[in-house]
Amino acid sequence: RLILDRVSKSFGDVQVLQDVSIDVRDGEFLAILGPSGCGKTTLLRLIAGFERVTSGEIRIGEKTVSAPNRHVPPEDRQVGIVFQSYALWPHMTVAQNVGYSQRVLGASKDETRKKVAEALGVVGLGGFEDRSPSKLSGGQRQRVALARCLVQSPNLVLLDEPLANLDVHLRASMEDEFSDFHRRSGSTMVYITHDQAEAMAMADRIAVMDRGRLAQLATPAELHDRPATEMIASFIGGGM
Ligand code: ATP
Repeated sequence: RLILDRVSKSFGDVQVLQDVSIDVRDGEFLAILGPSGCGKTTLLRLIAGFERVTSGEIRIGEKTVSAPNRHVPPEDRQVGIVFQSYALWPHMTVAQNVGYSQRVLGASKDETRKKVAEALGVVGLGGFEDRSPSKLSGGQRQRVALARCLVQSPNLVLLDEPLANLDVHLRASMEDEFSDFHRRSGSTMVYITHDQAEAMAMADRIAVMDRGRLAQLATPAELHDRPATEMIASFIGGGM
């Protein structure tokens, strides 16, 4: 379970997030949706531990990981992260990139090979094990980055616009794969996007952000039927 309790963040005089409270349930697929500049990425960076909160608290499971006087570093939060910009090791094969963390943790070659094949299957890259990242398209590289996160079976997966660089067809099939993966794995996922159709298609609930504040937290159906503000109505309607 992930709890954001009245989280605020300022950079100098600029307040980027204000009193954001969200309770993400175990196994939930939560989308954080909002226009560019509303604070989505900052929120994700706070959850991951790359930034400190100015006020409020973040709890993962029973543990307070962020508070003004407390900061658990990213590597101790057991979250998997997939960013919009993916960094793969150019000198390693796809399988080595995906399996690297397993080998570092001491998994056997066979075990690693099996997990890597599974993760690549999930992202639609079965059979790509021996390719070099430099021979892949941008979309395929992003899927390798996703597989690299999935192979670690994290309890909490943070995704920052992972489909942003993919073409329309690939996006649609990846949306299905994400939903499938989410159902099978039972992982809790927090998914950032500015694309309302993407959020509506995949998420159990959507947190709509507007200028640093949480504007509404609801299921896709509720957002569609009962948008709390004009901004949400036009955003969900695709008008922004
Ligand atoms: P996008 O979809 O365009 O990435 P976003 O909703 O993710 O936007 P953020 O990247 O969280 O928005 O940025 C929110 C606001 O905070 C922006 O106005 C941005 O300029 C500001 N901001 C983010 N990081 C910093 C920083 N390190 N220092 C100062 N201002 C920052």
